[in-house]
Amino acid sequence: MKKINFFKGNFGKKELNNVKSTLQSGWITSGPKTILFEKEFKKKIKVKNAISVNSCTSALHLSLVSLNLKKGAQVIVPSWTFASTLEVVCYNNNLHPIISDVDFRTKMISPSILKTLLKKHKNVKAIIVVHFAGKSAEMDNLGSLKGINEICKKKKIKIIEDCAHAFPTIYKNKNKYVGNSNNLCCFSFYANKTITTGEGGMITTNNSKIANRLKILRQHGMSRNVWNRYTNKSNKWEYDIIELGYKYNLPDINSSIGIEQLKKSDLMRKKREYVAKKYYAFLKDCENIILPKINSSELKNNSWHIFSITLKNENIKFRNDLIEKLNKIGISTSVHYKPLHLMTYYKKKIKMDKKYFPNSNRLWKTTISLPIYDKLKLADIKNITKNIIKFTTNV
Ligand SMILES: *Cc1c(COP(=O)(O)O)cnc(C)c1O
Repeated sequence: MKKINFFKGNFGKKELNNVKSTLQSGWITSGPKTILFEKEFKKKIKVKNAISVNSCTSALHLSLVSLNLKKGAQVIVPSWTFASTLEVVCYNNNLHPIISDVDFRTKMISPSILKTLLKKHKNVKAIIVVHFAGKSAEMDNLGSLKGINEICKKKKIKIIEDCAHAFPTIYKNKNKYVGNSNNLCCFSFYANKTITTGEGGMITTNNSKIANRLKILRQHGMSRNVWNRYTNKSNKWEYDIIELGYKYNLPDINSSIGIEQLKKSDLMRKKREYVAKKYYAFLKDCENIILPKINSSELKNNSWHIFSITLKNENIKFRNDLIEKLNKIGISTSVHYKPLHLMTYYKKKIKMDKKYFPNSNRLWKTTISLPIYDKLKLADIKNITKNIIKFTTNV
């Protein structure tokens, strides 16, 4: 039996050689490689600032800190996301997280969901938008329909974009990359993301004032970082601590991998788009499943990080059995996500009524993510889809 992984990274000689050269250089923490990685990332996204950090969780946390929200401020996060998006709000006891349901088809907070939520909660000062699976959320206006950016601007609500899935992704109805924005955009280079540094993250923004503060916050609140002091001609050692900071910098070892991953990011995306197209083609007649909503012109705008299908059968046992049956024949799948309002800790901490989450509750019982990565073979895709059709029709 051939095993089909849920995810497989793509590392070659280039990554190896770049890590080797970093080790041989004698400088392994944040230095020239990290500066280069930031420069190349910035160039790719066409954004004014890119601030590297050691994870997307750190990126989200620092972004939130940089907003200086006052005691009692409410921060909206979606139920349909990874733990990081919510935990960073809870790091600060003065902030009140509001967990939101998501749109059934996109699994994201939509402008209309946001508008309804804002009628109910009167002290919302920030929102963390998640671009789920690789498609962008509805940030910009579409004709007379207001996008998330405009709704928030009117109410002076700050936006953090969780872009952990969205590299490289093009904004809906725009001709620019997710991350090229005045908002604070947080990327992840965790082991299983579209490009990886093992662990790592990046904040991008066109807001240069906040960008400069983020650079100080990521390294203990120091007025000057170590590399800067080391390379300074006068060899000036002195630095000052100008505010409470964190230890969130990205080491050169990790950046050496990132520099090489970045170079092949478009090629890897193109191959994932191919996998997605095949899934659509092979599963389009399978009447018991709902495929991710996309129109064909958007195929190329999607990073295709996750491919989640939804089962029409709403019995959670049916979904779990399907995962088990696929697993038995060597096909690994996953679930993105178990909604955060159902997690033990957050259920206790945040008062929430289950009735506010009709879409996430249904999705939680019916969703399953299929393997999608550049190395997945056509034969594997055929094998996966053939068995999904078999297991969802003969029950
Ligand atoms: C992976 C992920 C994160 C966390 O990224 P790290 O780099 O591991 O901290 C945050 N949000 C979402 C939506 C993710 O998928």
